[in-house]
Amino acid sequence: MKKQIELLRELEEFDSILKDFEKKEYQKLGFLTEPVSIEFVKMIEKEREKLRKKIDENLLKEYDRIKKHYGNKVVVQVIKGFCSGCYIKLPSEIIARCKNEIKTCPNCGRFLYHLI
Ligand SMILES: [Zn+2]
Repeated sequence: MKKQIELLRELEEFDSILKDFEKKEYQKLGFLTEPVSIEFVKMIEKEREKLRKKIDENLLKEYDRIKKHYGNKVVVQVIKGFCSGCYIKLPSEIIARCKNEIKTCPNCGRFLYHLI
């Protein structure tokens, strides 16, 4: 089974794809008239719903809250000990713990993950 943090990253990916399709630029470019694109959007919407069911309810609530607040970059990477959402240096305890559990940045509140 996938880790919750991975599911959250996937959810963010889906959300950003759907957001792109909502943009008027896409409609102007005529992408939405392409049957393939519509099929793709529908598939993403379906997958997104399936994904949300797999994620812990509390995490989902937190995800939606952060998303509403920042718009993007909900799940961010820890780069050399820094939060890539707000760029503060993270306490070493949090860096160590977010490798095995879900942790949020003490400054911006975004979900943190390590690529390792
Ligand atoms: Zn942060």
